[in-house]
Amino acid sequence: MSLPSDALTNPVPARPTANPGNPPAEFLPPFNTLPDADGHVHGHGDGGSHGHDSLRTLDYAVIQQCMHCGFCLPTCPTYDATKKERNSPRGRIALMRAIADGQMDATKTFAEEMYFCLGCLACTTACPAGVDYAQLFETARATAEHAGVLQSPSRDWTRRLLLKGLFTRPRLLRALGRMLRIYQASGAQWLVRKLGLTKLLGSRLAKLEPQTPQVRAQFSHQLIQPVEKPADDQVKYRVGLLTGCVQDLVFSDINRDTADALLANGCEVHTPPVQACCGSLHGHNGEPGTARMLARRLLDTFDVFKLDAIITNAAGCGSHLKTYNRLLADDKQYAERAAEWSRKCKDINEFLVEIHFRAPTAAPAGIPVDQLTYHEACHLCHGQKITAQPRKILKSIPGLKLTELSESTWCCGSAGIYNIVQPEMSQQLLERKLKHIDKTGARTVATANPGCHLQIANGAAARGKALHIAHPVSLLAAAYRAE
Ligand code: SF4
Ligand code: SF4
Repeated sequence: MSLPSDALTNPVPARPTANPGNPPAEFLPPFNTLPDADGHVHGHGDGGSHGHDSLRTLDYAVIQQCMHCGFCLPTCPTYDATKKERNSPRGRIALMRAIADGQMDATKTFAEEMYFCLGCLACTTACPAGVDYAQLFETARATAEHAGVLQSPSRDWTRRLLLKGLFTRPRLLRALGRMLRIYQASGAQWLVRKLGLTKLLGSRLAKLEPQTPQVRAQFSHQLIQPVEKPADDQVKYRVGLLTGCVQDLVFSDINRDTADALLANGCEVHTPPVQACCGSLHGHNGEPGTARMLARRLLDTFDVFKLDAIITNAAGCGSHLKTYNRLLADDKQYAERAAEWSRKCKDINEFLVEIHFRAPTAAPAGIPVDQLTYHEACHLCHGQKITAQPRKILKSIPGLKLTELSESTWCCGSAGIYNIVQPEMSQQLLERKLKHIDKTGARTVATANPGCHLQIANGAAARGKALHIAHPVSLLAAAYRAE
């Protein structure tokens, strides 16, 4: 595995002796005996979690994989910002291990550290030992949630409303999306902003309000038929298309583009009109039970054994969707289907390259592709190790000139809902990303994840920069349409 180009240019802390047993004392958290915010000093309790979703019951081989080499440190955005061991992958894994070993409980400080982590998985790309940080991170957050150390009435209410109420009900989510669309399209949003009424939301929400995504006039089921066949009726592959939750409301055009690119390459596209959220938001935010429930629902929606592939165009979702086999490994009813699902689940970039997609013969109309750069979504490059394929698609487009972006794999600060819960760190990362984009002189940024798309678009708009953001598959579909 190659190291990122900047891995050796940053100072790497002294390498401790690799130790297959307990981590060395200097890497154990200094705060395993610190009081939490309530002033309680925690002893050696049960760690506050249970079942498969607890660090105490997680396969110990996953936890002890880390050999404390520190190769991951220079690639970690939070460590880079603070230079504190506890804000690094190695420090966080030491904390997790201390809980697994019964040396500390899941305290509030521990939970806050787990939520300071972006979950960007840059550490997994740098790690020579193959540490499964994604599993550790999800289990750590689940342990923290189960311990209830972050509980507060407003946090509990918001999580219940969003994670359990809204993102488990696709029809309710669409109804809310329609209301938001009316609010935005009628000019009410403009008026509220003009009159400064957003201040009534309170300073925190008022700061976030400009980031509210614009909801599309039509959602995916209004743009894509449940089954669509290639124009020449020559079906080479049968694929299922995932339309997502946020993607369905805000980027239904990208879903249409994805269907078009698949049709142009001989795919019969199956797109169930109502689809559950994939559960990545829940899996990454300490709600593994709800994530499993949503995974079962999606498995019930597609007949995976009759399809050649299940296609996703959202990197964050894809990274999670591919782990359904692990998520449902102990579920007698779903384990076999989940294993088949994980085998067949493909990111659109990955799938198109695998089937040797047809290069378009015309340049997309009305999109400045002659000055383009590519931002790599963390969950595409680190989570799924998909780096060459989007570039191959982009380079196949006539008239497209790709200028490589410095630190293209460095997180833009979106990271699921990180930009909402950790706005300061998120803005720092966004600033850094936009500076690099500026240096390329690009007028278009290609990226394959809705969170990155919104983050960069909002950041550019807030700074008065004219940037066009596009998914690589949208550029490909536009090029096909221009033929
Ligand atoms: S997931 Fe990202 S932020 Fe978290 S430890 Fe790894 S590199 Fe650092
Ligand atoms: S996570 Fe990997 S790279 Fe980081 S310290 Fe552990 S073994 Fe080394």
